[in-house]
Amino acid sequence: MWIVGAAVLVAGCGRGPAIVKNDEANVKAKELAQKFILIDTHQDVPYRLKKQMEDISQRTEHGDFDYPRARAGGLDAVFMAVYVPAEYEEEGGAYAFANEAIDMVEGFASAWPDKFVMARSAADIHRQFGAGRISLALGLENGAPIEGNLSNVKHFYDRGIRYITLVHAKNNHICDSSFDDERKWHGLSPFGVEVVREMNRLGMIVDVSHVSDEAFYQIMEVSKAPVVATHSACRFFTPGCERNMDDEMIKLLAKKGGVMQINFGSMFVNGQVYQEFVERRKRIKEYVDAHNLKGQARQEYGEQYAKVHPLSEADISDIVANIDHVVKLVGVDYVGLGSDFDGVGDSLPKGLKDVSCYPNLIRELLKKGYTEGDIRKICAENFLRVWLQVERKALELQSGK
Ligand SMILES: [Zn+2]
Repeated sequence: MWIVGAAVLVAGCGRGPAIVKNDEANVKAKELAQKFILIDTHQDVPYRLKKQMEDISQRTEHGDFDYPRARAGGLDAVFMAVYVPAEYEEEGGAYAFANEAIDMVEGFASAWPDKFVMARSAADIHRQFGAGRISLALGLENGAPIEGNLSNVKHFYDRGIRYITLVHAKNNHICDSSFDDERKWHGLSPFGVEVVREMNRLGMIVDVSHVSDEAFYQIMEVSKAPVVATHSACRFFTPGCERNMDDEMIKLLAKKGGVMQINFGSMFVNGQVYQEFVERRKRIKEYVDAHNLKGQARQEYGEQYAKVHPLSEADISDIVANIDHVVKLVGVDYVGLGSDFDGVGDSLPKGLKDVSCYPNLIRELLKKGYTEGDIRKICAENFLRVWLQVERKALELQSGK
């Protein structure tokens, strides 16, 4: 039921139980989601569609993203994650895999030019806002496709990639991963330092989501431009979760002008769900190690196990608590949204199940006392400010200043 009016649209979002509240805050939230630019810096649509293709110009049966739901939710721009599973680092083929995913996203824009348009700069996002089309930007999730060749950073820049999440679930040749027990480099590799410098020079955002703490602090030293955590939450709520950012890291990120884009995954925003997640990972690891599963088989077993053993759901209030925590630490200028839709499987909070649900989050922020100006910043302005600074720093570096 998408035609009965704003309040019902907000209430009926996603696959979760409908929260039917026809109140003023609902109407206001829906209005603001449409009025302001709303950018989400991390969604795993390409990888989802690689596994099971669907026509995202129409309402799809599966997944968290499609055009009608994105429009209903007020989403204007999204970074499509060109996610490359960690196994490709060892087995080869990462470069080709990433290029194919980029081809796929470009295909959306050329197949449905009235619905999707590619975005390569902060200015593109502003210019393309308000015409009913969704801007698609590209972020490379895992630096494995650089394959040890610095000129590949430029290759991916030329293909439209505007951030690189340096690493994913396992250490790679660029830096250590927060999810890997081994610490191969104790931060960045020597080549990783060169990659960060080259990204600064070209105007690509360095994404610190997934990196180890040691890598984070080295990146903060090396990078001449502000950096972004494109989809991370606060370790304050999930003690021991290195994948999230602790208070000192958040303060340093903000001090250097960066921004933290809050992940929506239940296991990242709620301590109890995080514990379930840790337990589940342990069980998966025990099995795949005992059966010596590698590569694709390992990945598939993990995905299958997760399907059969779903995690508990966090609540939309957990996301607000994470936003609030960053705001209390460093202010409202350093936080935004990086949902990880289509990337966290079953683990999305109640009331925030897909791209049609952003108004629910805005409603909760309004109820918490956030002003329209604050919400405008959280929805896009903070991230776009950082993107622009990264672009300007690149021009400065290229002109030899
Ligand atoms: Zn990720």
